[in-house]
Amino acid sequence: MYFTMNVSELARQLKIHPQKLLQILPEFGFDIGARAVKIDDRVAQQVIRSWKRIKYAMEQKDRAEKEKQKELEKEMRRETGATIKVPNKLTVKEFAGLMQVPVNKLIVELMKNGILAGQNENIDHDTAVIVAEEMGFQVEDGAGINSVIETTEHVEKLESILSQNATVIRAPVIVVMGHVDHGKTKLLDAIRSTDVVAGEAGGITQHIGAYQVVWANPNTKEKRKITFIDTPGHEAFTVMRSRGAKVADIAILVVAADDGVKPQTVEAINIIKAAKLPTVVAINKIDKEGADAERVRNELAQHNIISEAWGGDTPMVEISAKQNLNIDKLLDNLLVVADVHENTIKADPDRAPAGTVIEARVDKGEGPVATILVQTGTLKANDPLVINGQIYGKVRAMKNYLGEPILTAGPSTPVRILGFKVAPQVGDVLDLSQAGSAVQVDLRAKRNQQTGAEQKVLSSNTEGDEEAKKTLNLVVKADVLGSLEAIIGSVEKLKNEEVSVKIVGKGLGNITADDVTLAETTGAQVFAFNVVASPVADQMIRDRNVEFHQYKVIYDLFDKVKEDLTKLLNPEKITTELGVFTVKAIFRTEKNFMIVGGSVDDGKLLKDCKVRVKQKGQLVGQGKLSELQVGKQTMNEIPAGTECGVHFDGKLKLEVGDRLEAYKEETKERKLELS
Ligand code: GDP
Repeated sequence: MYFTMNVSELARQLKIHPQKLLQILPEFGFDIGARAVKIDDRVAQQVIRSWKRIKYAMEQKDRAEKEKQKELEKEMRRETGATIKVPNKLTVKEFAGLMQVPVNKLIVELMKNGILAGQNENIDHDTAVIVAEEMGFQVEDGAGINSVIETTEHVEKLESILSQNATVIRAPVIVVMGHVDHGKTKLLDAIRSTDVVAGEAGGITQHIGAYQVVWANPNTKEKRKITFIDTPGHEAFTVMRSRGAKVADIAILVVAADDGVKPQTVEAINIIKAAKLPTVVAINKIDKEGADAERVRNELAQHNIISEAWGGDTPMVEISAKQNLNIDKLLDNLLVVADVHENTIKADPDRAPAGTVIEARVDKGEGPVATILVQTGTLKANDPLVINGQIYGKVRAMKNYLGEPILTAGPSTPVRILGFKVAPQVGDVLDLSQAGSAVQVDLRAKRNQQTGAEQKVLSSNTEGDEEAKKTLNLVVKADVLGSLEAIIGSVEKLKNEEVSVKIVGKGLGNITADDVTLAETTGAQVFAFNVVASPVADQMIRDRNVEFHQYKVIYDLFDKVKEDLTKLLNPEKITTELGVFTVKAIFRTEKNFMIVGGSVDDGKLLKDCKVRVKQKGQLVGQGKLSELQVGKQTMNEIPAGTECGVHFDGKLKLEVGDRLEAYKEETKERKLELS
């Protein structure tokens, strides 16, 4: 009689996640299977007895891994020449932002250097330089090649420029945020369809990362433009935020009435609060059964977003994006909020233009293109494209959201711009007031930094035979932008003339159902760095057999990519000549084989070796020797100078006097040589 225990129960007792338990047990000699549900009671007791030891070992390993990870990150920065410029004075938080490392990690680093500082405390230049160099960064003095990492400085400058002489009202810029599937896209589509301008011109709005609509202000009846950022998801906005960029004036927080406040709603609320963004809540999907707007108001109130109806300051509008219900009311409310904040929604159309890159990519036909939201001043054709203090090209052509060519773009106008020599990055700052001191962009350095889709397009542009290359398709998700960029930048370098990595999807945050679908349709593997799969995605991964890997250590991820790229290489065939056999007698002839006698004249024969058959010096075919006999004895190897009988597999009819050249063919897994 033997007893069992549920793995989940054991995990509960040990205060560990069951899956994690199953994952670590084999490492400590308890092989109970990766999917075990039950565990033999005796084994369970052993595990419980050994738990202290296991836990200690795990902690040690964790610590070692973290150390290794840190070392590797440092190494990687050194290898890629990551460079930062350190200002004379900066806070710990700003410093962390500059290096794109989590603040708490930086605080620990500082402590190691004997500095106890909170995130809002200032540290001096020299200290920052020492710490940055210890973390693998090159620290740069004066002007020169700027790194993406030091956008912060330009963002700060932009902020002060935006307030200079800002006296003319501009269109409010709106960003839509909320939990996935709550209807952000649908709402943006519904709003877009209200645009009379597009309707009149018969224009079709192009997806350039933002669009505008004209709406009559409910108070003044005056027609006003409103600009909407519609980069897919709020990912781009999060990226901009993480770089400190401020592009939006008002947020629409979408909450589905049938689902309520969800994790990403809370995330959005946090962003809204951090950016002090005035907000209008769109309680969406009120057409649905189970819609409960009151519950949404309640849940939002718990996060200090209080409805005007309840005496708070946040307008909330019940809408159905699907049925186009109350979209007008929502727009009315947006303009009323814009009126309230009129003082901050102003610009100076007459100054040198400045703005933020909200979308950028390399187009197959057009080359690098980017959408810039002009925030102040007026951008004109032929203006130099001064991005983060460097000249990236000049404005060759501009198009608005309707795809129409335009010659000037004033405040709050999103414009797609042609004329970049190299694509900028989302969140980069355009500022023509810096044109005088701007240096030409270092094209080579920038191209090396280009990530994801951009590089993909570049390479298929330049190399016609790219198609023949085998690619390893990946969907990569990570917890922070720094890691994501580091991973993508580095795995894309893992390539040679035969194989390469193709990033079919990338982003921040946990693996979602969409990621899995994308991976499935593109035959990609899903790589998660410091993030997990959502329960739905997790189920899909199993149901659809999508290859999924989680990593905590960047170099483990690289190792896996290298291993898989190696598998993609065609194996190398190695042929070794063995010896020569001359046929002297035919003993038996069948359809698919013959038994013949003869002598090994040179080298040797091996059982199952292959042979090339030559008649009178001419190659006539090939076959295999599946059996070798000397006298009555079966042999595995026959040396030169021996008379023997062989079993020849093949359709070819051998004749006396034929010369059989024996050889051995081996396939050898190739080593990945990276170009
Ligand atoms: P996003 O992830 O926030 O961009 O959400 P989507 O706009 O893609 O919407 C998710 C799903 O909800 C889609 O299937 C939409 O058709 C649906 N949806 C969006 N708005 C409404 C609505 O007002 N009513 C109903 N019934 N469905 C909606």
